[in-house]
Amino acid sequence: MAQKLVHEVVIVGGGTGGIATAASMLKRRPALDLAIIEPAETHSYQPGWTMVGGGIFDASVTRRPMASVMPRRAHWIRQAAASFQPDENQVTLSDGTTVAYGLLIVASGIRLAWEKIAGLEQTLGSNGVTSNYRYDLAPYTWQLVRNLRSGRAIFSQPPMPIKCAGAPQKAMYLSCDAWRERGVLDAIDVEFRTAGNALFGVKEYVPALEEYVERYGIALKLEQNLVAVDGPGRTATFSTASGEETVDFDLLHVVPPQVAPQFVADSPLANPESGFVDVDKFTLRHVRYPNVFAIGDAGSTPNAKTAAAARKQAPIVAVNALAALDGAAPVANYDGYGSCPLTVERGKIVLAEFGYDGKLLPSFPKWLIDGTRPRKLSWLLKSEVLPWVYWNGMLKGHEWLVKPEIKANA
Ligand code: FAD
Repeated sequence: MAQKLVHEVVIVGGGTGGIATAASMLKRRPALDLAIIEPAETHSYQPGWTMVGGGIFDASVTRRPMASVMPRRAHWIRQAAASFQPDENQVTLSDGTTVAYGLLIVASGIRLAWEKIAGLEQTLGSNGVTSNYRYDLAPYTWQLVRNLRSGRAIFSQPPMPIKCAGAPQKAMYLSCDAWRERGVLDAIDVEFRTAGNALFGVKEYVPALEEYVERYGIALKLEQNLVAVDGPGRTATFSTASGEETVDFDLLHVVPPQVAPQFVADSPLANPESGFVDVDKFTLRHVRYPNVFAIGDAGSTPNAKTAAAARKQAPIVAVNALAALDGAAPVANYDGYGSCPLTVERGKIVLAEFGYDGKLLPSFPKWLIDGTRPRKLSWLLKSEVLPWVYWNGMLKGHEWLVKPEIKANA
């Protein structure tokens, strides 16, 4: 007979948002009976993969054993969630075990849909086809960049939503900078082919990025969607407004289309259009099930899907979820904050920080860091400070710069 487990709080997913929220909740209420459902044995700092692809970090520094980041008081259920039954306050695991909860937090991230590009999966990691979106492939990006001396390098970006919308460009600028440094950039035709209709979604950051597009001699091609790759033949096919176009490449950096995980999209928790967990964009509470919340990429909120967003959301979900357990209304609101440090060259970053409706939300005064311009201090933040803050602050429930503002009447 299938096993039945019961926990006061159940978090599905032990990635960035899941661990940070668990740590914040347990810090506030150490005796809480909290379980995390997570099948992976390792936990990744994905923002570091851009730096791996740029030859700055070794891949191993971006990954740690899951056991080392699990909060000490959390119960770790080492399995995948397979389905949700929110009307019975229950999650079913892949082996049929059911886990009943008083409160559920969905933190299962976004799914990389590699299979949506024909021929891609067979050739990833060979024939010059790579992606910083996978731990094992980011080092291959750097290997390709180091070895390329001439030819065509294409960097693709799929339609939104994707996690870290700036990451496709970051890979390109760091590659161009390495080629410039080695004196081969003039012999390489670099193309940025994006499904979007602008270089970046928030207009204040576009001028600085355009300067780099110009400096590196990048051909910017908008409204292009990668649909097929022939690895051995070294061709990539894009669908464009004027039909399909097939082009040769020597290096192809692919960012995969991204969708809600199927078990989320198939569940009663899903937003009918996007398939992500249907939550209120301010309180992060489910719009139909008051004892369900979402954090990070899994949620339907229209913010930039980033670890920075999860860093801001985690304490808000923590206080609102604890309030819900006590039968009270949500006590804090999320402003849509997300951040995307655009690595425009080795040593300089354009630090995009913004919230809902593209409102700029800089963490630092302009005289210290002007986020709309390339800055050395922003590089220091990305290369030294943020990884440290991630492992030692965010995952441990320290809410530096992201303490939730509790509403006056709460
Ligand atoms: P994840 O951290 O992806 O965690 C999801 C977890 O859910 C995983 O541990 C997974 O194993 C688990 N899971 C999945 N399915 C199930 C299931 N069925 N049952 C149980 N558990 C499950 N963000 C920034 O802020 N700045 C950056 O510079 C930046 N750069 C990036 C560069 C790259 C190349 C990539 C790939 C991402 C980058 N990001 C960046 C984005 C950031 O990493 C994500 O937005 C963040 O990790 C989201 O956190 P999450 O908890 O929602 O999802």
